[in-house]
Amino acid sequence: MVVNSVHWFRKGLRLHDNPVLQEALNGADTVRCVYILDPWFAGAANVGINRWRFLLEALEDLDSSLKKLNSRLFVVRGQPTDVLPRLFKEWKVTRLTFEYDPEPYGKERDGAIIKMAQEFGVETIVRNAHTLYNLDRIIEANNNSPPLTFKRFQTIVSRLELPRRPLLPITQQQMENCRTEIADNHDQLYSIPSLEELGFRTVGLPPAVWRGGETEALDRLNKHLDKKVWVANFEHPRVNTCSLYASPTGLSPYLRFGCLSCRVLYYNLRELYMKLRKHCSPPLSLFGQLLWREFFYTAATNNPNFDRMEGNPICVQIPWDQNPEALAKWAEGRTGFPWIDAIMTQLRQEGWIHHLARHAVACFLTRGDLWISWESGMKVFEELLLDADWSVNAGSWMWLSCSAFFQQFFHCYCPVGFGRRTDPSGDYIRRYIPILKDYPNRYIYEPWNAPESVQKAAKCVVGVDYPKPMINHAEGSRLNIERMKQVYQQLSHYRGLSKSTNKTNLGGSCLFFKSFWRVIEKLLLARGGSSLFSLKVPKLPRWPLK
Ligand code: FAD
Ligand code: MG
Repeated sequence: MVVNSVHWFRKGLRLHDNPVLQEALNGADTVRCVYILDPWFAGAANVGINRWRFLLEALEDLDSSLKKLNSRLFVVRGQPTDVLPRLFKEWKVTRLTFEYDPEPYGKERDGAIIKMAQEFGVETIVRNAHTLYNLDRIIEANNNSPPLTFKRFQTIVSRLELPRRPLLPITQQQMENCRTEIADNHDQLYSIPSLEELGFRTVGLPPAVWRGGETEALDRLNKHLDKKVWVANFEHPRVNTCSLYASPTGLSPYLRFGCLSCRVLYYNLRELYMKLRKHCSPPLSLFGQLLWREFFYTAATNNPNFDRMEGNPICVQIPWDQNPEALAKWAEGRTGFPWIDAIMTQLRQEGWIHHLARHAVACFLTRGDLWISWESGMKVFEELLLDADWSVNAGSWMWLSCSAFFQQFFHCYCPVGFGRRTDPSGDYIRRYIPILKDYPNRYIYEPWNAPESVQKAAKCVVGVDYPKPMINHAEGSRLNIERMKQVYQQLSHYRGLSKSTNKTNLGGSCLFFKSFWRVIEKLLLARGGSSLFSLKVPKLPRWPLK
């Protein structure tokens, strides 16, 4: 029987460690590598120009790697449900392969595609390679529910067998065995679109800070490992000014698009550790960051409402304010807090910001200062981040806003002090908010406190050339901590009344919340925080109790 394979690339944009691409090649007579893209929908998707550019570069890189193997990438325009049946007929396809997508929406879409392929008599092969572990195994090992604390997650994972070993890249020999004729007009029919074709204006677009593609990813992996020699010494990387800038060893966009296999990263770290530590097995903490990624994927895989408050069983229902004007100021870097504005500017210009910078702006938008829903912030990140990832982004926003996973709302980042500790001279601010570049170190984080003469000398008068701070942080954050306290109090009260507590909700029981509250109250009082309790707080609207 003739086997004509189509490998459908979605994430997993690489030729190394690609188990399902290997399946496509296995015993096949022809193989075509396909990417499906609908230019008409490009503008409607919540994806900014930087991420599109990254994706197109990743496709270019894939195509040029396939060329070296005497093959090509076929970029087909349209929607998968329209495109695939057409290709099945045109190419007499007998086998369709694609990487397993653990996100709820992806699983649903793929279920429909598998069914449709069946109707065409096309065999489908699906393999997991986007995560280290089979997420269903983790859930199974945790009594059929996703672990909702990282500690519990680590315990479960430590009992599982090691992740599957990565596979070698596709070779020319393999490709030769299932060589497909490439038509002379291939570039007309199946070319990679330009940003202009997708409807973006590119005049004045600065060069990309992050270059998309597998080649770049593998190059970065080597640099990343060189830097990670400290792994043997358990050193924790210190955050300083340098960490805030795009780093040539950063990997998140490459893991997001699957330009880099997470297992290749995992085993490289492991081998490096064992070489330096004379064959000792590494502790789980070595893979901490990669495990956080797995943690959020596991929590999200069976929760289609993971990216919203409504209908999301792990999300505390906090009555956030609607404030489009304040949201726009935050999103556009016009808050009047240079540290926050510099971060949001870097995000918009370059598509990546440091983890702690993400903490700073997410806390500021939500429970810290503006009391705006994490969903709004998540959407802005989704548009602008190169590494924007459905599960990790939503999970992190719930975390930061104390809506799930984390409840210590009395820990609040100061939009002045936090930045100053990280970058005392304010170089980072000078780079992204050049209007402030002549401010003395002393005032660069709080220009509104600079005497008028200093503002004039720096050629930037607050309220004229740079916005006044949009909120009094000290007052706003105190009020918000109080609001959070009310929310959690209502929650613990409700849980106290409820006999049948749903264990998955917040991963805890009413008992947990009661003792949790005792600890917080003690802590606040010990800090001389009595004023906190005497604050007059506007009555909160009742939040929906489920
Ligand atoms: P490294 O520290 O070098 O870590 C290596 C890899 O591990 C990363 O590339 C990433 O894939 C993974 N990783 C690291 N930290 C985390 C973490 N805390 N949670 C999950 N995975 C992690 N990361 C995303 O990949 N996509 C997102 O959409 C995303 N949204 C976030 C939103 C908020 C509000 C916050 C606070 C964090 C978010 N993160 C997200 C996590 C984290 O900030 C980035 O993964 C990290 O900054 C990437 O930089 P790096 O490649 O140098 O990471
Ligand atoms: Mg890094």
